[in-house]
Amino acid sequence: MKKPESMVVLTGAGISAESGIETFRAKDGLWANHPVEEVATPEGFARNSQLVYRFYNERREQLMSEEIKPNNAHSALAKFEHDFGGSFLLVTQNIDDLHERAGSKNILHIHGELLKMRCSNSQIVFDIRESFDFDTHCQCCRSPGNLRPHVVWFGEMPFHMNQINMALGACDIFVAIGTSGNVYPAAGFYQNAKINNAQTVELNLEETGSTFDTHIYGPASQVVPRFFEELLTL
Ligand code: NAD
Repeated sequence: MKKPESMVVLTGAGISAESGIETFRAKDGLWANHPVEEVATPEGFARNSQLVYRFYNERREQLMSEEIKPNNAHSALAKFEHDFGGSFLLVTQNIDDLHERAGSKNILHIHGELLKMRCSNSQIVFDIRESFDFDTHCQCCRSPGNLRPHVVWFGEMPFHMNQINMALGACDIFVAIGTSGNVYPAAGFYQNAKINNAQTVELNLEETGSTFDTHIYGPASQVVPRFFEELLTL
């Protein structure tokens, strides 16, 4: 492999699995107990907002608990970003903050963040570490009922797409970690990068059926540090 100068890394739920946060599609994962159309669509929110508030409040409470910490894979990415001399963009589908806690800096949350909420009227985004619901008064409109989780639901537009597309067009290596490749547009990023002649690498626990140039299988906490340490030695 050639020494890269410009790199885009995409992470999915698999990188946080060993930190204790369930992925969505595992047999015992989140979707098994919470149908996607109920908790991750605008229609589900309109139908039963209390259920949706509760779902994200529980996820936030779990994320803030002492047991949840970044693992070796998050730390390896932060170290690589620090030591790598080239251009580096980390795009995550995850709504947790484990990359930031590990020290990652140039990071875009394409599907939003669990520790943020947004006013549906003004679109102003606020930090939130506690629970909130329909009765919580919005800090900008001072009325209840306007605040929603700052997460991208199915059918909504992901964030930062222009910036990501520009980086995909300019990178010489694209690496996807712990993502099943089921959720678009992120699932198509490696093809965009390939069209622009980037090398594409997938690091996952198991085969996903995607046609990356290189596949490395194993738990993220083991394969990610190894891969990125080797990349620094090129
Ligand atoms: P996914 O659940 O569809 O796929 C997870 C992938 O990770 C699978 O391919 C699985 O094989 C792999 N995996 C599981 N454990 C792993 C490990 N220890 N090491 C390496 N790989 C491992 O998740 P996705 O592709 O990210 O897409 C689902 C959507 O779910 C995303 O949009 C994301 O926003 C959301 N989500 C986020 C979180 C989070 O913030 N931590 C958690 C669950 C889901």
